[in-house]
Amino acid sequence: MISFQEAREIVLSQARSFGTEEILLDGAFGRVLAEPIRADRDYPPFPRATMDGYALRYEDLHRGIRGFRIAEVLFAGSQPVGRIGSGECYKIMTGAAVPDDADIVIRREDVEEGKGRMEVGAKEPKAWRTYLNIARQGEDLRAGELVIEKPCRCEPAVMGLLASLGYDTVKVAGMPQVALLTTGNEIVEPGKPVNPVQIRNSNHLMLEGALRRERTRLKKYGHEGDDPQRLNHLLQQFLLSDILIVTGGVSAGDADYVPRVLEELGVRRLFHKIAMRPGKPTWCGVSPEGGMVFALPGNPFSCLVNFALLIAPYLHACWGLERSSPMSLPLNEGRRKRTQLDEFFPVRMEGAPATLTQMRLNSSGDIRLGMQANALALHPSGSGDLGVGAEVTFYSFV
Ligand code: AMP
Ligand code: MG
Repeated sequence: MISFQEAREIVLSQARSFGTEEILLDGAFGRVLAEPIRADRDYPPFPRATMDGYALRYEDLHRGIRGFRIAEVLFAGSQPVGRIGSGECYKIMTGAAVPDDADIVIRREDVEEGKGRMEVGAKEPKAWRTYLNIARQGEDLRAGELVIEKPCRCEPAVMGLLASLGYDTVKVAGMPQVALLTTGNEIVEPGKPVNPVQIRNSNHLMLEGALRRERTRLKKYGHEGDDPQRLNHLLQQFLLSDILIVTGGVSAGDADYVPRVLEELGVRRLFHKIAMRPGKPTWCGVSPEGGMVFALPGNPFSCLVNFALLIAPYLHACWGLERSSPMSLPLNEGRRKRTQLDEFFPVRMEGAPATLTQMRLNSSGDIRLGMQANALALHPSGSGDLGVGAEVTFYSFV
């Protein structure tokens, strides 16, 4: 049986591109940028007043001039009509362009304003210098400078940056066609009557939610009972997707037909079973058309963990995103080791300084799914019980 790390490496080594597409910036939130981004001009594009005040020549102050005639009032977005001479100033607002005949902005609160004039205090404060309260043209970015080099997610800051740079469309990584097949005779859709031994289908909407968080939509969904012929028939169509996720029917039970049927259909097995918990029975392969197949044990928590630790990293690798490395923090409550496997358990990182709090979860069959967890912590194989304060590796969900 392979380790979790080996399984992850195998999955990541199968990463492939789903092409790129040009989309409106308006719809790019959460997508992965697939083009290098350069500054179209200097930023700031002009010397910008960072305070409300008066723009004038530093040299005048230096020479002892303390009274100035207000020649013009400059608002953000306005340009001066004339120029100032010695003993003159512009009244200027934050965000306005400082004309090139001024090189210092004196704050409004540091002067006395009278009729068309203003006076600064007699003594020259140490802080006075050229470019005081002025953000210089190009001090953030130079025209042509590379701002984003590698694929990155269009998070709010990236959206803001792209808008500033004038992009109205962007090239982003293409999306895979994803199909999901849930299996199991006992599974009933929510809203339908259940008898005492039936279970409601939670994997469908849970995995659809997990995909949506990755901005990926399900192209195809189906449910099938534990019937090898019917599974064979349905899987034939489902295998035409870029990614197929199957849940249930991969363990060693008499009704677990999924691995056999997948192999009959020519899916090349990459591995079956990982030395981890939950998720031990996981089966993974590549379809004859090159699609990636993840067959997950049916327990909802196993599906959630598999998605977070294998499927999401696979998607990220396909989009060219850099691997997020695991982090570590101390546990604020001890944990018993239950198996010889790598055990993943739901935690919430919180507090300052941050620690990991374990979320309540009985077993991988617990429908609470470690609710409110924002990470999965690893209790590694070969280690004993974890004490309070033990430093634990975790994989963040967000
Ligand atoms: P299996 O992997 O098919 O042996 O299923 C393991 C456990 O997960 C069983 O208790 C199933 O009833 C449950 N299960 C399987 N599929 C689903 C599903 N779609 N939603 C909720 N529970 C499921
Ligand atoms: Mg089953």
